[in-house]
Amino acid sequence: MAKEYETVIGLEVHVELATKTKIFCGCSTEFGGAPNTHTCPVCTGMPGSLPVLNKQVVEYAIAVGLATNCSITQYCKFDRKNYFYPDNPQNYQISQLYLPICKNGSVEIETAEGKKQVRIHEIHMEEDAGKLIHDEWEDCSLVDYNRSGVPLIEIVSEPDMRSAEEVIAYLEKLRLIIQYLGASDCKLQEGSMRADVNLSVREKGAKEFGTRTEMKNLNSFKAIARAIEGERIRQIDLLEEGKQVIQETRRWDDNKEYSYAMRSKEDAQDYRYFPDPDLVPIQISDEWLAKIRDNQPEFRTEKMKRYKEEYEIPDYDIDIITNSKHLADLFEATVAICKQPKKVSNWLMVETMRLLKEQDMEPEDIRFSPENLAKLILLTDSKAINSTVAKEVFEVMFDKDMDPEAYVEEKGLKTVNDEGALRKTVEEVVAANPQSVEDYHNGKQKAIGFLVGQTMKAMQGKADPAMVNKLLKELLED
Ligand code: ADP
Ligand code: MG
Ligand code: ZN
Repeated sequence: MAKEYETVIGLEVHVELATKTKIFCGCSTEFGGAPNTHTCPVCTGMPGSLPVLNKQVVEYAIAVGLATNCSITQYCKFDRKNYFYPDNPQNYQISQLYLPICKNGSVEIETAEGKKQVRIHEIHMEEDAGKLIHDEWEDCSLVDYNRSGVPLIEIVSEPDMRSAEEVIAYLEKLRLIIQYLGASDCKLQEGSMRADVNLSVREKGAKEFGTRTEMKNLNSFKAIARAIEGERIRQIDLLEEGKQVIQETRRWDDNKEYSYAMRSKEDAQDYRYFPDPDLVPIQISDEWLAKIRDNQPEFRTEKMKRYKEEYEIPDYDIDIITNSKHLADLFEATVAICKQPKKVSNWLMVETMRLLKEQDMEPEDIRFSPENLAKLILLTDSKAINSTVAKEVFEVMFDKDMDPEAYVEEKGLKTVNDEGALRKTVEEVVAANPQSVEDYHNGKQKAIGFLVGQTMKAMQGKADPAMVNKLLKELLED
């Protein structure tokens, strides 16, 4: 009988923190910018320069630790991780090995198989490296140090996950917590959240873990799921052939759907870690810790509860809206202006979700403002535009966040409320469609739909369908 295998996965997740300046200098952390313009002697590793710790980094790290049930190391230190690579100008990375700022946490995930705790081994602070650009045309490599010194936290899980589904649930949970905290935007595509997947397989029921590999270069949830499946099969095949899995770092190629060996796995001792002598240890006082705890935001569970009481919208809507911090903020801000929770929710749930899906966007990428969504809702409420026109206006607003009032005015989209003008059109339509009129009189109720459609068309969509319906009935029943 074929052997049955179990997959064991632990993640190392790097998150770029949303500080304005870098971790040890005053340079901007802004993404993009001409190469090497967000740099100074500190983040380019010039001899004699000294690092100064950015306090906000510590506060974000603690906030993430508290939100993931970690204990906070109130006396913690930075260590040097020594290695040479051209994107690492100091020849060491300032990180934490001995006394990471957060330890022993957990997050709860939920999959089709139910709820489960994924334990967090530790969270530590460190600096990001620069970026190498390999120019194949010129046959040379260039380096950009704009990213060098951007603050990161690395969240290391225990090997508690058993499937791609669990991994994605875990990453989504982490992302949501961090977005709620405002500590990062956590965009996989832009690299502000990066996950390295450690994976091993073992025979079902085995006590010991198998040898693991670590996979890098995963920049979407889909790529992560494919990489897990690809690597699981590769390892099982090796074991089935009586071969061994080699502990190494592999690079996932999402186009070829295969991982390639990058380098054999180093151990901590290879890096000759030692406490950074340029930085004093961090003392986190009880008061400071309490202040950060008091400033924690409303998280999803509390928000869900409040929405239920305050807004009276269906659980289904609450679930989707609170699943994105940006969507929740947008919802609350719009309701604050137009006071119509269900209508705001409908716009977010139906049209917004449809367009996001069509354009392969995340809720975080939404561009329209709460002010403009509120205006659109008020335009439909006052019957200034009908629902078909409203949808068209919304599509334009979704693309370029314009003021819907001004847009409706400029494009002449207002509903014609002049009953005289509308009646005239209705009469013309009735005169032009004797067959439909006859059908209607012969009991074919549906014929009226056609006549409404013809009238709306003649009015270029700028009429209230209910009003057209009423006028038509009046006329036909005469
Ligand atoms: P290192 O310090 O060598 O990087 P760690 O013990 O810190 O190794 O583990 C790194 C990551 O690998 C952690 O997320 C951990 O959960 C995961 N991991 C460790 N052993 C295994 C294993 N046998 N199978 C899968 N993942 C593992
Ligand atoms: Mg490690
Ligand atoms: Zn700098």
